[in-house]
Amino acid sequence: MAVRSPPREYEELRTMFCKLRQNSLPPPALPDFRGRSSGGARRLCDNIRFTCSWCPGQVALIILVSIKEDVMEKFYTVAGVPVHWTGSGEYGTRGSLGECEADAIFLLQLEECFRELWSFPLGKAEAVVTRGVFREEAGMHGEGRAFDLEAIFWKEHSLIVKRDGYERNNLPLCLGVEAVLRRNFGTVLNWDYKGNDDHIHFDDFKNLRRFDPLAQLGISVGFLQMAMTVLFDKPVGLMRLPGQRPEQQFNRLYDTRTKVAIDAAMKQVDLASSHAELVCQDIWMLFLAKIAAKAFGKVLSPVAA
Ligand SMILES: [Zn+2]
Repeated sequence: MAVRSPPREYEELRTMFCKLRQNSLPPPALPDFRGRSSGGARRLCDNIRFTCSWCPGQVALIILVSIKEDVMEKFYTVAGVPVHWTGSGEYGTRGSLGECEADAIFLLQLEECFRELWSFPLGKAEAVVTRGVFREEAGMHGEGRAFDLEAIFWKEHSLIVKRDGYERNNLPLCLGVEAVLRRNFGTVLNWDYKGNDDHIHFDDFKNLRRFDPLAQLGISVGFLQMAMTVLFDKPVGLMRLPGQRPEQQFNRLYDTRTKVAIDAAMKQVDLASSHAELVCQDIWMLFLAKIAAKAFGKVLSPVAA
């Protein structure tokens, strides 16, 4: 995926924001949107730059509304699919339609991510079940920039994180979805992460728009090892230990066996690269897409894949 250069609208948009906030700081200093830290404002501008090359009008409108009203965006669907909640005792069911709130930029990323997921062979789902998005607490959920995914229901398939990930009932499906999540969000904590056995948490704290290759690889080693083992029949054995931060185990986990398995897997999916090139964002993104395609292929045709 090529890095996009800032579109013309970006400067116009930024000038508009400055005026709106009666803030005439010249570039590169940026206005402190919505009382955010300067880091938050920088992130917002990064995202504007990225997303407005897709749909400038929509982004401008949503952000202007957010700044003006200083509120979270309410939503009931993601990429055209209803978002459901389950009540107590309903885990594993479709639950029912419920209201969610999220940061406006995060919501756009969420839409983009699920649009991409629906473009894979399983197609558009019928319901996405969440454990929570914005909620009154510290951290990324408190900023409306995190999503807890409990389940996805397609017409003929379903992914329930505890059953299919934690209990290993359908790891290919889980890994396919995780690969797409990782293409869109810098932080993804799956079912093996402590306290996460019934959902996948993802947020945009580690912003993929500012790709940090080693950090990204560090937090993804457990995922890669699981993918090599489950999807490519290259057992690497040393999978992420539940409850431990993968980046802290990076050097131990990213061993020669894993690197060799990655090289073999790349060959299998006709990617003329090696593990060493995973530090390039284009290769990283492409490899994740190939992993997702392989995973969904296995779900749809377990014998052939
Ligand atoms: Zn969460």
